Amino acid sequence: MTQPQHDDQALWPPVEPISAGLRGCCPRCGEGRLFSGFLTVAPRCGTCRLDYSFADAGDGPAVFVILIIGFIVVALALWMEVAINPPLWVHFLMWIPLTLALGLTALRLIKGILITLQYRNKAAEGRLEQPR
Ligand SMILES: [Zn+2]
Repeated sequence: MTQPQHDDQALWPPVEPISAGLRGCCPRCGEGRLFSGFLTVAPRCGTCRLDYSFADAGDGPAVFVILIIGFIVVALALWMEVAINPPLWVHFLMWIPLTLALGLTALRLIKGILITLQYRNKAAEGRLEQPR
């Protein structure tokens, strides 16, 4: 894993990490694309050439999606069951597509935010200092 390239912030004005992450933009210049696929991080920024090899959100986005979307969908399903008491197939018909749509949408947004926050806060794996 290469060292994050953070020593060049004088050349680039600070980018609001939440906004850049939600738009899927580069954490340094705020213009280049962060993703090359739906969830695949591009090798580098097309605008400022920032190397994205530092970007590793790990399981973070999935955890947030499970907790947030799970809470919303389970709460709605419980409310609907108590208030309307529909047949079981109605639950399946409503909550499975909603969970997939919300989960996939939120996964990309949260991954973008976590990577831009990782860049902003210089977060990286812990490592022992190399002897010189
Ligand atoms: Zn960039």
